[in-house]
Amino acid sequence: MKNTILLFLILISKLHASEAIGFYSAGSLAGAQSVFEHGTPIQKLFVARGRLYTSDEMHNVLTDASEFIKNNFPDSEILQVGDLSARLGGLAEGHASHQNGLDGDIVYLRRNKYVQSPQAANWDEDFVTKTDLPTKNFNTERNFALFKFLVKSTSVSRIFVDVSIKKLLCKFADDSGEIRDPNTVETLRRLRPQELHRTHFHLRISCPPNDHECTPQSGPEAGSGCDDLSILLESVQNLHSC
Ligand SMILES: [Zn+2]
Repeated sequence: MKNTILLFLILISKLHASEAIGFYSAGSLAGAQSVFEHGTPIQKLFVARGRLYTSDEMHNVLTDASEFIKNNFPDSEILQVGDLSARLGGLAEGHASHQNGLDGDIVYLRRNKYVQSPQAANWDEDFVTKTDLPTKNFNTERNFALFKFLVKSTSVSRIFVDVSIKKLLCKFADDSGEIRDPNTVETLRRLRPQELHRTHFHLRISCPPNDHECTPQSGPEAGSGCDDLSILLESVQNLHSC
């Protein structure tokens, strides 16, 4: 009997499917699970805000990111995730996007591996100095490795970062010769410099193929964008969609 119930529960969880509806900044979310229901292996921050829900696809991307970190940097801190979406999506106070379960805010990986409390009301650390340079605690190698993995192996469409961080990663790729690798160029292309990303990066995934009411966003311009970072600053419309 116990086994039958277990089988039934497994079947139900397999049948479960979320649906991303509309655009990142004008949408909603159906059938979503919270990170706790789904068992997504992350440290969820700002639990009291309730933006614990996201599409099945984003749960999978977060799980893949966590696995990547565990396998490649076993001494690293756990992936720390801020706001996702509300249970039914829609307007999430403080954000224009995060409306259809395809956006998530994530703390940059640190050199000192600090993990902040889920009860804290806000981000604990600014990774950019007052003179607009990435801080020493910003882990260049690990963040870049994670970004490259996400772009190569998941449905990530854009990663919003502070402009100083994109600049640093362009230089890092150039100095190390990695810029000759097409996956590095593709990663830099998807790293979009934007304001308000000194404390975290914003991960945006593409519309899931089976979510027919999801409105896609056109891809970023071709190339790394490293030659002229000022041009890469997103338009006002996109700036407000974060
Ligand atoms: Zn965000």
